[in-house]
Amino acid sequence: MSDSGVPGSGLAKGLAVTLKTMTRRSTTQQYPDVAPELPPRSRGVIALLAENCTVCMLCARECPDWCIYIDSHKEEVAVPGAARPRQRNVLDRFDIDFSLCMYCGICVEVCPFDALYWSPEFEYAEYDIRDLLHDKDHLGQWMATVPPPPAHDPNGEPSKEETTAARKAAAPAGPAARPAAPRVRPEAGTEGTDR
Ligand code: SF4
Ligand code: SF4
Repeated sequence: MSDSGVPGSGLAKGLAVTLKTMTRRSTTQQYPDVAPELPPRSRGVIALLAENCTVCMLCARECPDWCIYIDSHKEEVAVPGAARPRQRNVLDRFDIDFSLCMYCGICVEVCPFDALYWSPEFEYAEYDIRDLLHDKDHLGQWMATVPPPPAHDPNGEPSKEETTAARKAAAPAGPAARPAAPRVRPEAGTEGTDR
């Protein structure tokens, strides 16, 4: 005979389940009353450090969703001692459309100039989807929420920048201190001829 035949057995089973779950620790997070404890390097929003951006367009080209929009113009910069002024790109527009972004992180990874960072900030939901297009200033404001980089592993290899800086510091100062490059005398009869 099945349990369902005993009167009240269903109620007893239900109460048993209730009692068992009452003693378990609740995993419900009381968001938004209590902020969730996210890992510091969570992918919440992308922050832009505009002064590092050289408008190389790598991020926009590699973005699988085509949701990065960049505009720029060229500007001439006078360099003391140079024969001609140099040209540099000036960033006019840098937008990311977070309604299209899939948070893959490719743009942050490919940026060769450390202009893009992940911030764990995620509270930027909007009532109007068009407001999820964050412009240069908006992306720049997220920089304040980017966590500092993790400490370097003491057993790891030193970074390229540290090695280069140490080599430069150890090098003798000034061109006079450097050994002169050996001069190679051309062989007789080869002066002024092409190889
Ligand atoms: S995280 Fe991915 S999808 Fe989003 S902007 Fe960057 S490359 Fe595009
Ligand atoms: S990859 Fe970096 S430097 Fe190049 S356009 Fe994008 S943000 Fe700017």
